[in-house]
Amino acid sequence: MEMDTIAAISTALGEGAIGIVRLSGDQAIAIGDKLFKGTKRLEDTPSHTIVYGHLMDDASGETIEEAMVTVMRAPRTYTREDIVEINCHGGLVSVNRVLQAVLAKGARLAEPGEFTKRAFLNGRIDLSQAEGVIDLIRSKTDRAMNVALRQVEGRLSKKIGKLRQDLLETIASIEVNIDYPEYDAETMTAKLINEKMTIVLAEIEALLATAKQGKVLREGLATAIIGRPNVGKSSLMNSLVHEAKAIVTDIPGTTRDTLEEYVNVRGVPLRLIDTAGIRETEDIVERIGVERSRQALKEADLILLVLNYAEELSKEDEALFEAVKGLDVVVIVNKIDQTGRIDMERVRQLAGDNPVVATSFLQEEGVDQLEEAISRLFFAGGVEGADLTYVSNARHIGLLNQAKAHAEEAIAASLTDVPVDLIQIDVTRTWELLGEIIGEDVQDSLIDQLFSQFCLGK
Ligand code: GDP
Repeated sequence: MEMDTIAAISTALGEGAIGIVRLSGDQAIAIGDKLFKGTKRLEDTPSHTIVYGHLMDDASGETIEEAMVTVMRAPRTYTREDIVEINCHGGLVSVNRVLQAVLAKGARLAEPGEFTKRAFLNGRIDLSQAEGVIDLIRSKTDRAMNVALRQVEGRLSKKIGKLRQDLLETIASIEVNIDYPEYDAETMTAKLINEKMTIVLAEIEALLATAKQGKVLREGLATAIIGRPNVGKSSLMNSLVHEAKAIVTDIPGTTRDTLEEYVNVRGVPLRLIDTAGIRETEDIVERIGVERSRQALKEADLILLVLNYAEELSKEDEALFEAVKGLDVVVIVNKIDQTGRIDMERVRQLAGDNPVVATSFLQEEGVDQLEEAISRLFFAGGVEGADLTYVSNARHIGLLNQAKAHAEEAIAASLTDVPVDLIQIDVTRTWELLGEIIGEDVQDSLIDQLFSQFCLGK
């Protein structure tokens, strides 16, 4: 495949101590040498070392920048091509000047995600690993980042690869039996398909079982805080935001704005529905009725329903319980520092299976238990102990669901007298669909669309 040399600013735009302009391609080192004047030429620099020097404009003889330049030769690089990274002073102007200079010497401005796309096209990583890179950049908590990292390392790819290998062997045995039909070949083959596909189906289901948690870690939980006026909703929000110490805000390529909406509750990213939204829900039930408020709340993945310990349960409180029926709810009984008037028996009864936590946001009591309850709701089995292969990507989940349907179809057909060459179509389709997860047989348009989600310079 013919590929030109691409360049982009690979660090976040804005003020910073250093900025990096990255080049990748056959001409990366030659283009670097057209600008770089140091103790040695980049061409003579050993791979994976860094040299100090200046970037010069040969026409005017002026110095463009002082720089440290890293040379990394193919194939042991991010893209598997020659890579040159120019570390210069941070700040929009200087990094941009360097970029313009390398473009003037023959590099082409990279499209978003093009470096990672090359890593994929050059076979260093597969599609699910590339998608892991996007998730890594966008991850909102350490826990989510660990999951993305496992995907980049290829854990999901390996599982999918193993499944596809099993399917391929099954397909091969079916082929053999079709080609050399003996008198009971059909029955034998149907039995084999049944056995093998039952195993494959179980593994697909096991992967899908991680999808809910995977999605939570990747995308966060849309969280609505509801309750009557003055029960402590804003205080709850403040205490959650205050507790959110470990939120990741300095990962390149992410903007602060998108991250600041999230609070990190034991590794679970919560996206709190904004204060305006909260105020609207204060009398949402009264205003629009139980049925419609239930619709409105459906968009939330998690509801924090706040009650006042110091007051008796009101009609509005009961209506709120009614509106959140069937959703994931944590019931918070706040102001336990005051004299209790609420009927806790009744609260527990209304809460049903949902956890009830007693708090005093004023005295910072119960916040730990609240966080525990939220985390338990989504990670009952615990996350740390699991092997961290989560399916979190909507595209993967969709493909797994389709693969599952075809596997089920094959199993069902294997129990009837459907001819095996017809059943084989479902087996093959299962194999193909799983292949799409790791990027085998995916169309160019999908690949372009996937990589365009990346930030520039990645
Ligand atoms: P919101 O209207 O539901 O958002 O309630 P706020 O969070 O604004 O709280 C209403 C009032 O209750 C404020 O004066 C808070 O300081 C107070 N408050 C909040 N939590 C507690 C608590 O646990 N104990 C006591 N005594 N007061 C609280």
